[in-house]
Amino acid sequence: MKQKIAILGAGISGISLAYYLDKEKYEVTVFEKSTSIGGCVKSKTVNEYAFELGPNTVQLKHQEVLELINKVAKDDLIYPSALAKNRYILKKNKFVKAPMSPLSLFGNPLISFSSILKLLKEFSIKPGRLDEQTSVKEVVINHFGEEIYHNLFVPFCTGIYASNPENMSVKYGFPILWEAHQQTGSIIKHFKNNRRSPELNKIIAFKNGFQSFLEKLSKDINIQYNQEIKSISKQGKVYQLKFKSNDELLEFDKVISCLPAYTLANTNSSLSFLHKVNYSPVYVWQIAIQKNSMQKPQGFGVLTRAMDKHHFLGIIFNSDLFPGKSPKDKHLMTVMIGGERDKSLLELDEEEIKQTVFSELKTLFTIKGDVEFEHSHLWKNAIPQFHLNHESIIQEVKKFEELNNDFYISGNYIDGVAIPDRIMASLNLAKKINA
Ligand SMILES: Cc1cc2nc3c(=O)[nH]c(=O)nc-3n(C[C@H](O)[C@H](O)[C@H](O)COP(=O)(O)OP(=O)(O)OC[C@H]3O[C@@H](n4cnc5c(N)ncnc54)[C@H](O)[C@@H]3O)c2cc1C
Repeated sequence: MKQKIAILGAGISGISLAYYLDKEKYEVTVFEKSTSIGGCVKSKTVNEYAFELGPNTVQLKHQEVLELINKVAKDDLIYPSALAKNRYILKKNKFVKAPMSPLSLFGNPLISFSSILKLLKEFSIKPGRLDEQTSVKEVVINHFGEEIYHNLFVPFCTGIYASNPENMSVKYGFPILWEAHQQTGSIIKHFKNNRRSPELNKIIAFKNGFQSFLEKLSKDINIQYNQEIKSISKQGKVYQLKFKSNDELLEFDKVISCLPAYTLANTNSSLSFLHKVNYSPVYVWQIAIQKNSMQKPQGFGVLTRAMDKHHFLGIIFNSDLFPGKSPKDKHLMTVMIGGERDKSLLELDEEEIKQTVFSELKTLFTIKGDVEFEHSHLWKNAIPQFHLNHESIIQEVKKFEELNNDFYISGNYIDGVAIPDRIMASLNLAKKINA
């Protein structure tokens, strides 16, 4: 008889895991509290506008991810326009192109000559041990100096995590830097030695949105919607799951959580330590404006420095990236607001948030016309923050799994927030369970 596996949560972690598990061996059911698939992955089409509330684009990163996409949704893959190579950072209200190659460092207003010299010296840094509590800030400043940290790294980190690198553990937030410092010493050398193929560096999206990819991935998966997990307990060798919808206890041989930490924390008292994982809130605001009534550089988008105290974290220039997804005569942009940097702004009434941000955008883009289309979504718990205490949380997760055979904890707060990292984590976990 097949063993029964319950996967909790139908985000990319849960769905990709269900996809990779051996269906000859296991009867797999995914339980999801909402009425649709995706979790943080949410694609919308309203009138003539198609956009994302979560990830807009992802970098493939891993060969296995490319293979999965080619197998499941090859014909749906799209690539951003050539304009995507222009990425901007706002410096004192000026759009400055982020350097994307060694040559573009020279003369760039974000980097002085002394920072370039520091980059050259970085090559000679020898490998050294890092403490588990070392922050991203400490490592980046040691290697590249204050200017590169504030002008390039902070905006970049905001773009990924909506967070503050000062409080972020390098081991969990940027494992590549953790590895580089300890194995190679120089981070630049490490990146050069471990360069990905151009194919894997590609940025991708899907014709009908990221959610359509998850829908295709889940074609043969049994998903039970409107099933909010309430409690998990163990009786002998089986796990008993109780859902909010009814009092019936469902029994499974294995349970795999792909839930956010704050949800799993409520299902069993021995998991309450997961409340220690913090998440940053992000308000995602799509706006469309007539192209001839505003001025904007063309490109991927713009990120901000913390020191400039803007009321937004960054803006994606959707209509430059994917011109077919909005009317030709409009600029569609996605404005990201809040994060760790400006949590208090998100406590305001929604209209006040929009007014505060729009008055800044009006000046920045010399907007003369009205907003012709808008959509907004507040992610109260958008992205997990790998704070300096994260190591101790991970150790508690490991201890829990050791004590509770056949209970696995996955999710973006364990091993990476990016979609390709979630797919790789699912593949690795499935290999372990299938073996
Ligand atoms: C605004 C935003 C922008 C992002 N941009 C990018 C990007 O550009 N590139 C990139 O790679 N990544 C990006 N990410 C990160 C990425 O989207 C997430 O890390 C990833 O989607 C998380 O997937 P997951 O399956 O681990 O968790 P989730 O997507 O959170 O899925 C968890 C699922 O569990 C369900 N659930 C919760 N509680 C219960 C319960 N009690 N019972 C049953 N089900 C429950 C939820 O409804 C949800 O479906 C972004 C995230 C956000 C929020």
